[in-house]
Amino acid sequence: MGEFPRLRDDLTELTGYHSPQVDVPVRLNTNESPYAPPEAFLRDLESGLRGIDFNRYPDRAASELHEATASFLGHPVERVFCANGSNEVLQCLLLAYGGAGRRATVFRPTYLLHEHIARITGTEVVAGGRKADFTVDPDEARRVLAEASPEITFLCSPNNPTGVVDPRETVDAVLAAAPGLVVIDEAYGEFASWSALELVADDRPLVVVRTFSKVWSLAALRLGCAVGPPRVIDDLAAVTLPYHLSAPTQLAGRLALGHVDEMRRRVDTLVAERERVQAALEGMAGVEVWPSGANFLLFRPAAAGAQRPGPGPGAGIGVWKALLDNGVLVRDCSSWDGLDGCLRVSIGTPEENDLFLTALEAATQ
Ligand SMILES: *Cc1c(COP(=O)(O)O)cnc(C)c1O
Repeated sequence: MGEFPRLRDDLTELTGYHSPQVDVPVRLNTNESPYAPPEAFLRDLESGLRGIDFNRYPDRAASELHEATASFLGHPVERVFCANGSNEVLQCLLLAYGGAGRRATVFRPTYLLHEHIARITGTEVVAGGRKADFTVDPDEARRVLAEASPEITFLCSPNNPTGVVDPRETVDAVLAAAPGLVVIDEAYGEFASWSALELVADDRPLVVVRTFSKVWSLAALRLGCAVGPPRVIDDLAAVTLPYHLSAPTQLAGRLALGHVDEMRRRVDTLVAERERVQAALEGMAGVEVWPSGANFLLFRPAAAGAQRPGPGPGAGIGVWKALLDNGVLVRDCSSWDGLDGCLRVSIGTPEENDLFLTALEAATQ
C-alpha cells in the first residue's frame, strides 16, 4: 500500500478562510442579504426545474444565462463570463494568469480570498498597504506595482471589510501603473455610488467581478460573473471545467434577472438601514465607525468602561464574544493587518439591526 501524500508544502501554512457558522438568532457576519428571494422568483424556479432534462448535461456555454447577464449589465455578451460564485471567477482568473513564477498584488486590509486563492494556484502575492482612511494611495500603488510587476492587480470596491469605495481617480491611477490585468471585485457594487463597469472596454486590461450572493439574495445558489475584454473572457473559458454551471444554476440566474425592480428596492432599504445603523454607532461613546458604500459597516468598539476608542482589553474580541452571548454574530476582523480591535457588522433587517445595536450598547457600557 502506498503512503498518503503530504499536502503541498506551499499550502500547509494557509489557515483557510473561516467565518464561523454559528447557529444564532441574528447572523450578521457574512454580508448576505437578510431577505429571502422574491416569492415570484421561487415560483418560477419551482416550475422551471420541472422542465430540466436532468439526464442530460447542461448547456455548456450557458448561453441564455450569459445573454441575460450581459443585457442586465449593459455589455455585449462577448464580455461576460459566469461561474459558480465570484470566487470561482477569481480562481479562473488566477488559473489563467497566475501560477508558478507569476505574481498578484493586493492592498491590505482587503478581501482575504484574493490572496488565499492566489496562493492555492501557486501565485506569489505581493501586498501593498492602504492609507489610514483605508483608501488606496496612488503613490503607494505605483511603488508596489513597479516593484512587483504583477500579472494581476486586485482592487475591491466597495472594499471588504472596510466598506470604502475607491474613487474613479484611484482606479485610473492603478490602471495606468499596473503592468498587467486589473481586477476590481465589485461584490457590493450595487450599493456604491459608482461602478467601474463603465470603464470595461475591449482594449483595456480591466475586469470587473460581480456576484449574485449579496443583493440578489442568492448566496446558496453560487453564481457570479466577470465583465471584461473578450480575449480575457476566452482565457477564462479555457480554464473552467466542462459543464461547470449546472442547469439549475443557469435557470435560477436567468430567472433572478427578471426581478430587477425588487432587487433595487432591497438595495434602497439596506442603504437606508446602513445609514441608520451608522448614525447610531456614531452616537455611541467611544465607538469608531467608518463610512461604507456596501451592506456592512466596519467599527471599532471601545473597551468596556473606556471612553477612548482603540485596541485594548475588552475591545474587539471581547465585544465580539459579548455580542455572541446575546445571540448576535458579527465578523471579528481584529487580527487582520491594520484592523486592531475592529469588528464588521452586516446590515440585516431593521429588527436584527436593533438587536445588534442594543447588544452592542450593553457590551460596551
Ligand atoms: C461576498 C464576497 C464575494 C462573493 O463571493 P461568491 O463566491 O460570489 O459568493 C466576493 N468578493 C467579495 C469581496 C465578497 O465580500
